[in-house]
Amino acid sequence: MFDEVHHRPCGRPTKSGAPCRAQFSGPGFACKLHTTDHEKALVEAYGQGLETGRAKERAWRQRAEAAQVERLERQIRTLREELDAKNRRFDVDGDQVVTVDGYGYRCGGPGTLEVGDRVLLPENYVSALRHSSGPFPGTVTELGTTYTGTLSRIISRAPATPRQTG
Ligand SMILES: [Zn+2]
Repeated sequence: MFDEVHHRPCGRPTKSGAPCRAQFSGPGFACKLHTTDHEKALVEAYGQGLETGRAKERAWRQRAEAAQVERLERQIRTLREELDAKNRRFDVDGDQVVTVDGYGYRCGGPGTLEVGDRVLLPENYVSALRHSSGPFPGTVTELGTTYTGTLSRIISRAPATPRQTG
């Protein structure tokens, strides 16, 4: 509708009959003096339309970006799950394999462990620092593990009622 040109001459007839030589910039029809109320309204509406269009475009772009991020996250989640499923071990040489508080362990039984079961774990260098030396309790958080290294063996199930540990 408008040329966004800077500093073009108004050109409207003045009282003397000569074209107005005032320059104006941006969307519009004439210099301030020679712009009619109707033209002012048109320019204003144009500006608002432009603003609305830009706001819509911004919103659309944000939605598109959010959708793309979501799509990528979903893809990553799927790939991770596929990789997890491929690498997850549920038994080692006949022992059940579970994850206890984030770490893989094997368990020779008796019975089968479920998520939420309390178990007694052998001391390791971290537990020795945290719980002092000796076996320490843990909770089965997952069945199987994706850890590929050697697994320690769970000592036993812990008593059903967990001890109070401050
Ligand atoms: Zn003018």
